[in-house]
Amino acid sequence: MHSAPADTADPTALGILSTVFGYESFRGDQQAIIEQVAGGGDAIVLMPTGGGKSLCYQIPALLREGTGIVISPLIALMSDQVAALDAVGIRAAYLNSTLEPYEAQAVEQQLLAGDLDLLYMAPERLVLPRTLDLLSRARLSLVAIDEAHCVSQWGHDFRPDYLGLSVLAEAFPGTPRIALTATATEATHREITERLRMPAAEHFVASFDRPNIQYRIDPKDRARDQLLRLIRSEHPGEAGIVYCLSRKSVEQTAAWLEGQGVAALPYHAGLDARVRQEHQERFLREDGLVIVATIAFGMGIDKPDVRFVAHLDLPKSIEGYYQETGRAGRDGQPSTAWMAYGLGDVVSQRRFIDGGEGSEQFKRNARSHLDAMLALCETVTCRRVQLLRYFGQDSTPCGNCDICLNPPTTWDATVPAQKLLSALIRLDRERGQTFGAGHVIDVLLGRESERSRQSRHEQLSVWGIGTELSEKEWRTALRQLLARGIVEAVGDFGVLVPGPQAGPVLRGEVTVELAVDRSPTKAPRQRRSGGGPSRAAASLEPAQQEVFDALRSWRSGVAKEKQIAPYMVFSDATLVGIIEQRPTSVDQLGLVSGVGAKKLAEYGEAVLEVLGTDH
Ligand code: ADP
Ligand code: ZN
Repeated sequence: MHSAPADTADPTALGILSTVFGYESFRGDQQAIIEQVAGGGDAIVLMPTGGGKSLCYQIPALLREGTGIVISPLIALMSDQVAALDAVGIRAAYLNSTLEPYEAQAVEQQLLAGDLDLLYMAPERLVLPRTLDLLSRARLSLVAIDEAHCVSQWGHDFRPDYLGLSVLAEAFPGTPRIALTATATEATHREITERLRMPAAEHFVASFDRPNIQYRIDPKDRARDQLLRLIRSEHPGEAGIVYCLSRKSVEQTAAWLEGQGVAALPYHAGLDARVRQEHQERFLREDGLVIVATIAFGMGIDKPDVRFVAHLDLPKSIEGYYQETGRAGRDGQPSTAWMAYGLGDVVSQRRFIDGGEGSEQFKRNARSHLDAMLALCETVTCRRVQLLRYFGQDSTPCGNCDICLNPPTTWDATVPAQKLLSALIRLDRERGQTFGAGHVIDVLLGRESERSRQSRHEQLSVWGIGTELSEKEWRTALRQLLARGIVEAVGDFGVLVPGPQAGPVLRGEVTVELAVDRSPTKAPRQRRSGGGPSRAAASLEPAQQEVFDALRSWRSGVAKEKQIAPYMVFSDATLVGIIEQRPTSVDQLGLVSGVGAKKLAEYGEAVLEVLGTDH
């Protein structure tokens, strides 16, 4: 075994896991996947974010002769990925446009000399004839295609360059390929298999549950204030990602948080590339920063200690939502996925789709994604069950989402729903006019406005028939009726009309049960039996907390000096492990999960010193 690091004594998968990475046992399918690829076979791996996909190609690359090529769309992250591997003693490099020609040449030499365990590159680079020629002269252990869902044309991260990866099948027929993704829908799975031409691959589909993430969706009521409350009461000083739809709201929210004393940075595609890169790097390297971003941010960010992901606007699909929220808690520690969502989100997104460009098929597709997202928001049963079902996996109520922790009360809203539909039908007859939610509610409440006076809506029979509900209650009801297709928002202006499910309601054939808006969940953290791997740093006792802080401050000193991210020194989970196991010697420290041979040699003495151990 020529390619493993010098101090890897045990050339088995388990030996590498323990010596190089400092972990005791494999998770889920990791071992089976590693065996498949190390044995020369192809694999398609569907595993949630934080599930441990990287080891599935890193270990086979160390077990096999030659260099493992890792295809990743994320040029900006390659240097970090390489730094993290370097920290555990794996010989890795990358080839991309950020390198000077002489640097690229040096990497090519290393590759040809067999001095690399792993080499990262983007798909557009791989398919260049020059690169294919280079690779054909090197010895390859495997090709890993990370973020493989980027090949899916109807998916949320489509990258045309991924389609070119089909050449791999012919270019390197004897080299095993492993495609990995955290997107688990049936359609994506099929597209990966077909477009990457991997008919003989073995398929590994993990459970998509992320038990340490608490899912919560609150009715929107001044979203920024809600966000600030979440940060202050549950995640002070912790790292988080806040997603907003527009660049403008990204900038405003970041500035506003700063003004409130929360360290926050904006990130969106409109920012200068250098600023963007700098913000991303600071987020990765500093402890406890909040990044406010559009969905342009996050793919491939493997910062393990992101404690919360917040959505201030409704995501466009469940796939996107699950990927984004999945960036919380990769280290298995308790984390929060929180969203604020309101009537305005539903109407504006529908309007955006209907008024946008794109073919009819594209719009239909976007609408069905949105509908599934709305159904999740308005569900009155366990969110996790609903999410997992979307990915084709059955489960039971989780006890760690807002619905389980704080079940909503429902009420019979059949009559109000009928009144609302009647009002929509009346208003719809006023040809050429367009009425949004605000005006419909004015009519139901009999509230005069410029609009109602002009349009003489006071004379309609439905004028003022809905005074039994307040405006807020009507908005809540309308939101849920929209999510269920009883009402529909159509056209460029989001005009409300009876939806496909309206008929049976109007005819009184079904009753409509709606949920009362719950007050925001401030849930006690609950762990499910058999949940995450270790206790939360948050649950440490005060004396232990002090040690944790001391270890963290030692860690950030080391990280600064080495110019790497703190988690590359040790993750929070490893620090908690150290505190719990109280090692008194270097040997004992080596037994803590996440402490491999290289890190032990490098940091062992220093850690024991911080612990105040007389060794
Ligand atoms: P993914 O790429 O699937 O999102 P990663 O490969 O980044 O996940 O792994 C997530 C975290 O879990 C990392 O911090 C990784 O070191 C850790 N991890 C992976 N496999 C194991 C294991 N068998 N035991 C302990 N920790 C693991
Ligand atoms: Zn639940």
